[in-house]
Amino acid sequence: AYDFSERIGRVEPSATLAISNLAAEKEAEGADIVDLSVGEPDFDTPENVVAAGKEALDAGHTGYTSSNGVPALKEAIAAKLRGTGIDADADEVIVTPGGKQALYETFQTLIDEGDEVVLLDPAWVSYEAMAKLAGGDLSRVDLAPHGFQLEPALDELAETVSDDTELLVVNSPSNPTGAVFSEAAMEGVRDLAVEHDVAVISDEIYERIVYDAEHVSLASLDGMADRTVTINGFSKAYSMTGWRLGYLHATDEFVGEAGKLHSHSVSCATNFVQRAGIEALENTEESVAEMRDAFADRRDLLVDLFDEHGVDVDVGDGAFYMMIPVDDDDQAWCEAAIERAAVACVPGSAFNAPGYARISYAASEERLREAVDRLVSNDLL
Ligand code: PLP
Repeated sequence: AYDFSERIGRVEPSATLAISNLAAEKEAEGADIVDLSVGEPDFDTPENVVAAGKEALDAGHTGYTSSNGVPALKEAIAAKLRGTGIDADADEVIVTPGGKQALYETFQTLIDEGDEVVLLDPAWVSYEAMAKLAGGDLSRVDLAPHGFQLEPALDELAETVSDDTELLVVNSPSNPTGAVFSEAAMEGVRDLAVEHDVAVISDEIYERIVYDAEHVSLASLDGMADRTVTINGFSKAYSMTGWRLGYLHATDEFVGEAGKLHSHSVSCATNFVQRAGIEALENTEESVAEMRDAFADRRDLLVDLFDEHGVDVDVGDGAFYMMIPVDDDDQAWCEAAIERAAVACVPGSAFNAPGYARISYAASEERLREAVDRLVSNDLL
């Protein structure tokens, strides 16, 4: 029999699984489920990116690449990062199979048993799991009482972050709230990180999906260049979730250490996918703008619809999620939403935010209207 590691016992399967299993079961039975639980854009990958991938295959780019990535892609990534004020060089980049792998490598590279990791709740599900797998102990600051914004919570963050803190995780625009943190909030993070000599993960994977706000890259702020690991990827910006392509940017020294784990685990990201990534970075302004505008319209539609039914939402300025207040028992509410209204959303508890449900608006306006109608007619709103 297997003798499982203590480490793997520290984590649970994704808390969203119960809902997606239930949704899948219902669909198999023929039910028409409006699935608002998904974490991926509902658009096709831009055609020119698909074409670049095919061309790369035809050109025979099917072998391993250098472990940290194809030089031309690393150059394109560095240029992109310089666009948000990060003083980036191609050698400071590791190209990974998805932003998730970049995050995993970062936690493994920085965290020892017992190190303190600070999360801002509601927090994306995998940060906790990755911190625990690395042996970290979690401290959390709850942004829910502050409309999911960081700026009004800076005092609480200051009470939490100390010289004992090893790592702080910041995700703006946020999954699951859609919040985009202000420049003042980011400067507050910088001040604390510098004062207490803390490393910061800045997960900027939703950076291209921002509406009426300004995205601030933490590593662009004075004092942050040598303590930030910037995470980004292609899944959300270019609707490329299944291609599995992402990256991290940090100092040379960090890349040297994390690169060891990278080379001994994944070896490299998929060769022809990396080539398509260059096209995505360089020739998709129009597609990105179209997707962003569509998300903005849907967000506005949902806010209006919820408003009509007296549901007050702390709506964010980015990503494609919002957290709506539901019953205290959000798990039960989400189960009822599927069972009775055939609408799938994710319980806030999955993000350490009980009493809320996460709605993804990566769905057509027609389906969003249908979802709200169904929730209302089943007395769930
Ligand atoms: N970070 C956040 C906040 C996410 O929501 C996701 C995907 O859901 C990721 C990182 C990782 O995305 P990927 O591995 O597809 O690049």
